[in-house]
Amino acid sequence: MVNNLYVVTPRGFCAGVEMAIKALTWMLKIYDEPVYCYHEIVHNDWIVQRFKDKNVIFIEDPKDLPKDSIVMLSAHGTAPTVEMEFKNTSMTSVNSVCPLVTKVHHEARRFSEDGKKIIYVGHKNHDEAIGALGVAPDNMILVESVEDIDQTNLHNDKVALLAQTTLAMSEWEPILNKAKSEYQNIELPRKSDLCYATTNRQKALINISNKVDKVLVVGSSTSSNTNALVTTINNLGKEAHRIETLDDLDNISLDNVDVAITAGASAPDHIVKEISEYLNPNNLEFFIDTTEEEYFPLPKELRSNITSLSKLLKNMFPTNSKEAVNGISKDKSWSATEALSSL
Ligand code: SF4
Repeated sequence: MVNNLYVVTPRGFCAGVEMAIKALTWMLKIYDEPVYCYHEIVHNDWIVQRFKDKNVIFIEDPKDLPKDSIVMLSAHGTAPTVEMEFKNTSMTSVNSVCPLVTKVHHEARRFSEDGKKIIYVGHKNHDEAIGALGVAPDNMILVESVEDIDQTNLHNDKVALLAQTTLAMSEWEPILNKAKSEYQNIELPRKSDLCYATTNRQKALINISNKVDKVLVVGSSTSSNTNALVTTINNLGKEAHRIETLDDLDNISLDNVDVAITAGASAPDHIVKEISEYLNPNNLEFFIDTTEEEYFPLPKELRSNITSLSKLLKNMFPTNSKEAVNGISKDKSWSATEALSSL
């Protein structure tokens, strides 16, 4: 039996994931099915399956979108040319990119227009990296490691450095230092590209790590920030395990040890609860490192459609449409968990 179990805060859904899940839920309520989604809406198998069950079709190529259909672009960000393809084919296209990914796209555009070569630190083939590299494909180079910086050979250029939002700090910092020593005048964004949710979840784990023997991280293998949490603990010389379901606990020895449990930014909290209950520790504590207040409004295309629809309902059914009219204004207090339950 687990001795002490610490449930770490912050964990699980970030503001970008909250917004994307609610956006796709709204789309299912407003538009005819099927609704298409470019890439997994967020990198979590349970959530993707929940939407598949409700007739959302996930596609990886704009060519797979039937003409005049309804499509949402995922939270990870989409290359401008690909977004244009979706706009041209679809009847309605809603871009639910996280505003913090949009910030990196803006920086890539600005540095590129300024004649700089951009070193982008990220994971090859990750949806976010693919989208960001598509902003200025001729001027961006992907690097994944300190060693990759040696291959860049940009000493005759002006150079800037950007990053995928979900890297582990312990992965990013050595690459940042190497890039700064290689290119003395390298330009960086004013504010780090690693997002608040990524860094807050990692810092909380670092701060609890001295109290525990092992760490459990709930999340899917495709989730970069989940993997970053595992890397963060492994780099401290401790054991960390990524788990998605109770079945994944079978091969982990947890007898008489102290454990911390957290979740990546796209992992639903009911799985953390299920696992905590199953572990039935001698002592359960909530470790609150910091609390988060961030809120990202729904994509503007959707806000405008919901507002129009609400007005229409109000005019047609003045006495029966209170909830529909209030829907958009109450979005901040409506959680993604509630949205998923409403499906
Ligand atoms: S992890 Fe960060 S960048 Fe990614 S969706 Fe969440 S808030 Fe946005």
